[in-house]
Amino acid sequence: MSAMDSSFDEPDYDYAASIAGRAMRSMAEQRIAPTPANFAVWFLYFGDGHEDLRNAIDLLIDHNRPFDARTNQDLFKTYVAPQVSAAVVDTSERLQALMGAAKEFLATAIADNHSQMQGISEVADQGKAGVDPKALVAQLMNELARAATRATRLEAGFAEKTRELDVIRDSLSRSEERARTDTLTGLANRRALDEFLRKAQATAAWGEPLSVLMLDIDHFKTFNDNFGHGVGDQVLRLMAKVLREKVREQDLPARYGGEELIAVLPDADLATCAEIAERIRHALAECTITRRSTGEVLPSISVSIGVAQYRAGEAITDLIERCDRALYLAKGSGRNRVVTETELDRVGTAG
Ligand code: GH3
Ligand code: MG
Ligand code: MG
Repeated sequence: MSAMDSSFDEPDYDYAASIAGRAMRSMAEQRIAPTPANFAVWFLYFGDGHEDLRNAIDLLIDHNRPFDARTNQDLFKTYVAPQVSAAVVDTSERLQALMGAAKEFLATAIADNHSQMQGISEVADQGKAGVDPKALVAQLMNELARAATRATRLEAGFAEKTRELDVIRDSLSRSEERARTDTLTGLANRRALDEFLRKAQATAAWGEPLSVLMLDIDHFKTFNDNFGHGVGDQVLRLMAKVLREKVREQDLPARYGGEELIAVLPDADLATCAEIAERIRHALAECTITRRSTGEVLPSISVSIGVAQYRAGEAITDLIERCDRALYLAKGSGRNRVVTETELDRVGTAG
């Protein structure tokens, strides 16, 4: 988990604001200047993850070290800045070096080819001049052996560069994966969700059904207030795990916002999606939540879920908006339930 990942995700407003408040208060108490770099250090300290940074600061606190400008600068340089730029700089520098090496290889291969052609044509010229054929064959063999040795050397070098290229490709795909993943839950983030929805919409245009379910934890604010954000985060991870387990291989479970999760189900109509939503709600209700530090069993958590199906030709935002309204209706009609967009129509007609 990199120290800046959470700033790329879209954190819940209240959550981010509470972290920011704690960071500012702590900085004020310690007379730390509120510069962007200092703030980044202390925001990450109070946020989720970033264990290295937290350990370093805790160690400084244990040793009663003051947080002067120098210390903060060191913390920023060591734990914040490198994570942002390291991956980018490292990969692009390695790619540059590799391109240089590839160019050199090509130049060597072309030059080799020229000199081999020249060597062989010189032997051929001697043949025309009536030189002893036995000596000519020996010379030719010699030229060919030299060519083979150089080719083998080139090939070995080339294989090594190819391996380096594979390493770079892997590291690029890992950072691409990180950019599409929510750090807290490990689910797809908004960026990955938007991409998936765009593709799913294209398929749905051919007449295949496409449905979404949106899930929001009931009274989560109170839960956080009673048991702390850390335990709240643990619950959120559990929700994500259950969601991931209950959807099908082709579906996309994602974190929509703070404590709102979403799942996109291609090739599922409203009834199928509602059935899966019901299964998710049941599974979550049956989860036992224990406080990791003490083993204490905490009150169970319920969720409300809205379900909607894509209508041919509509914008994806319309689908999401309908799903959100169904979720809102689930909250309004008592929580801990699944509501589909059909009920929305009914309420609409009645009203
Ligand atoms: P409701 O039943 O109406 O949904 O009540 P609620 O208290 O859950 O209300 P709402 O959905 O508006 O509250 C969202 C709360 O979720 C606010 C914030 O404390 C919490 N939250 C959002 N993101 C996170 C997170 O990443 N971690 C933790 N621990 N809490 C979060
Ligand atoms: Mg919410
Ligand atoms: Mg909620």
